Amino acid sequence: MPGLINAHTHMDLTALGPLDGPPRRFVPWLLDLIHRRSLLSPRVRSAGFQSGLHRALASGTTCIGDIASLGFPPSSLEIPARRSFLARSGLRTLTFFEVLGLDPSQARERASALDSRVRKHAPGVSRLRRLRFGISIHAPYSVSDDLAHPVARLARRRSLPLAVHLLETAFERSRPRHRSAFREYCAAFGWNPAWLDDRPSSPLEWLDRHHLLTPDTLAIHGIHMNQREISVLARRKISLVLCPRSNLYLHGKLPPVHNFISRGVPLAVGTDSLAGNSSLSLWDELRAIHERFPEIPPSILFHAATAGGAAALGLAGRAGVLHPGCRADFTIVRPSFRVDTTRRLFYNLIRSTQDANVQGVVIDGRLRYQRTFQP
Ligand SMILES: [Zn+2]
Repeated sequence: MPGLINAHTHMDLTALGPLDGPPRRFVPWLLDLIHRRSLLSPRVRSAGFQSGLHRALASGTTCIGDIASLGFPPSSLEIPARRSFLARSGLRTLTFFEVLGLDPSQARERASALDSRVRKHAPGVSRLRRLRFGISIHAPYSVSDDLAHPVARLARRRSLPLAVHLLETAFERSRPRHRSAFREYCAAFGWNPAWLDDRPSSPLEWLDRHHLLTPDTLAIHGIHMNQREISVLARRKISLVLCPRSNLYLHGKLPPVHNFISRGVPLAVGTDSLAGNSSLSLWDELRAIHERFPEIPPSILFHAATAGGAAALGLAGRAGVLHPGCRADFTIVRPSFRVDTTRRLFYNLIRSTQDANVQGVVIDGRLRYQRTFQP
């Protein structure tokens, strides 16, 4: 079968997981995560990153869309180290350099740091390269206008793909300073919640104002997206990444998947980070959607985790399908059910496939993972 495409990961948070314990509230979880990440030694963080890549491969994944929290000042896991881990893993990757900052006085410095990282590490945009790079605007509520403007210009100038966490939280709507969760978030960074007072009520409008809603934009989560916003995604052919288990853990709810499908929003699937999930397997993710929406045809879910993921990462027609002219990225699965007919094939695959059923993973024609025999 075509390899699975995990369109939203944070591999550099792998050392903080897998999660255990009851669901958490989003903002306290996020602040705790930032604190715990700061305590990780460079060695542990790097080992976690590599283990995340291996876990993805072992679950049958051939390609990931990974957010790189590079930090400011630079983190212990800078781009050259990531690059060499990614190259060694064999995975096809699109790494988004993340920017974040609501304080307008820091915008110029952060934009120029991003600019120099892009110039140094993301010189080409060829979609045929196995390792590609883009930019992530963390979220509309965590990025100032003064930062969004130069970042959008940089993305346009370099034709770089963009990723953004979008409407994951209810406080992203108008006047978030009245929401205690957002005030708590801002207090941790020393930001003034009133800085968002002049924003339009929909974060999509704000993104559009900065020309950040293009077919090269990848929207992540969309839990609180309304009908009008869903139509905007559909019209602009912007892919949305569903991260169901992360959403259930941190928010106790799922996005309006039916509405995305009926309006024709291109869908992909992601695990998000292991700090908010119990595995990096898209099989577990697909099962989570299927269990809550059993009426959605399993073939649609399978498509989202393969060809849909490819389209989301700018690889439409090049990955996510087995077709002449595509990259030779595929996964060998030994199913735990009898394949004597294609009837209910996707249903059976999603219901029963575990990582242990994945026998091998081939990327660009090279065997990159082979399950060792266990008697
Ligand atoms: Zn995320």
